[in-house]
Amino acid sequence: MAVNQKSLVESVPKGLFIGGEWRAASTGATLAVEDPSSGATLAHVADASVADGRAALDAAVAAQAGWASTPPRDRGEILRAAFERITERAEEFATLMTLEMGKTLAESRGEVTYGAEFFRWFSEEAVRIHGRWSTAPNGATRLLTMKKPVGPTLMITPWNFPLAMGTRKIGPAIAAGCTMVIKPASQTPLTMLALAELLRECGLPAGVLNVVTTTHTGDVMEPLIRDERLRKLTFTGSTGVGKRLVEQSAERLLRVSMELGGNAPFLVFEDADLDRAVEGAMLAKMRNIGEACTAANRFFVHESVADEFAERFAKRMGALTLGKGTKKGVDVGPLIDAKARDGVSELVEDARSQGGTLLTGGSQVKGRGYFFEPTVITDVPMSARVMREEIFGPVAPISVFRTEQEAIERANGTEYGLASYVFTSDLARVIRVSEALEFGMIGINQGVISNPAAPFGGVKASGFGREGGFEGIEEYLETTYVGIAP
Ligand code: NAP
Repeated sequence: MAVNQKSLVESVPKGLFIGGEWRAASTGATLAVEDPSSGATLAHVADASVADGRAALDAAVAAQAGWASTPPRDRGEILRAAFERITERAEEFATLMTLEMGKTLAESRGEVTYGAEFFRWFSEEAVRIHGRWSTAPNGATRLLTMKKPVGPTLMITPWNFPLAMGTRKIGPAIAAGCTMVIKPASQTPLTMLALAELLRECGLPAGVLNVVTTTHTGDVMEPLIRDERLRKLTFTGSTGVGKRLVEQSAERLLRVSMELGGNAPFLVFEDADLDRAVEGAMLAKMRNIGEACTAANRFFVHESVADEFAERFAKRMGALTLGKGTKKGVDVGPLIDAKARDGVSELVEDARSQGGTLLTGGSQVKGRGYFFEPTVITDVPMSARVMREEIFGPVAPISVFRTEQEAIERANGTEYGLASYVFTSDLARVIRVSEALEFGMIGINQGVISNPAAPFGGVKASGFGREGGFEGIEEYLETTYVGIAP
């Protein structure tokens, strides 16, 4: 059933969520949330001050001991109830995300399914937090190993997946028994505010989750990172900001997880099934309008299939319809803001000036909103900026390779190491290439690899730590060993 957009936005709480209550910013300030398809203001939400940030951490600290001693089953049941309720209200969450972030409703529905699944997965993990009992090799001591929640956690999330980047952190933290302060991106706070209210309705005790929205981001976050009561920082966002936060957290040797930028290679070998490769390329490139850390950034195609692959891929990209994400028949929404759109334009211009050939797209769309045409460029030299920098838009640069070794070297020739994609029908090659690629995640003959049951994360400048899978909850647990003399 179609959702009434105006009443949906009105229904979202606009305050700070601290200690189980909604409140205005202490200064009374608000920040505007924009619809990127038109530039129109959707809503105003509270703009937290430094004091508000501290109040949120106070609430998380006060709730920590009680929450850690809440039975795991009870913690899991809250997550399970939240999973059910998000699923029931999927259309509302999808519409809200499309309004504040821009992607199509179909994409937002996909994110609701993906995001909610972290709650279901971690509701199951809450009751499977295990320790160990063993005898020391010399027989003199018994070794008891137990897991405890890390404690109050600060979570900072980006705008590109307003729901899932939050649930991927909140789910395991709730399951492990950690309390938290979460700061969603200031461009897309509505989804997180709606989620906080839903968790409250599902019985999450006051203070376990606190939400702070602010435009004074660094000023509000830094004192929390330096506060001795905080036990963990988990950040998803750009590598530049991530590095700064690691520096801030180093003073107290705070436990840190970093999910940072990517520069995913997409390798198509001569033995690939080209139908699957083109389909995979569409998904790996166009999911989230290219605004995904896992987005295929650099396409390396064997010389024997390069022309055919490029032609078929460009035909599919050129046939996509741009428009407001809530409209029927639209395939591609706007980029998040003018800066993002202009940045993508500059990368395309640079690639063309270095000899790249445009097969389709290449331009900004004039008029309201921040639209950029789906673009395919071939003959792109490795020196082009588009081959080194995260594009975060619907642009696919293609380069040709001759040998497997050359493909691997080019793929690894980046400071990043998050996602990568390989298309081949040769099993021995799958093993060789998977072992050689320096990436946290590798998709074989598939263009989407994110899965709540799998460990998501990167190496090198893409960060450290894993979200999802069995590994995800470990990020929120400490190990204590007790030596017992019998
Ligand atoms: P961003 O500019 O780094 O912002 C991410 C978050 O950090 C936002 O909440 C932002 O708040 C906050 N932030 C900015 N400056 C800060 C500071 N000085 N101190 C504390 N927090 C600060 O990144 P983005 O543009 O939103 O997101 C895109 C990036 O995220 C891309 O690089 C993408 O690859 C990466 N990403 C990575 C993953 C992954 O799992 N590896 C997943 C998704 C996205 P404001 O909104 O208030 O500025």
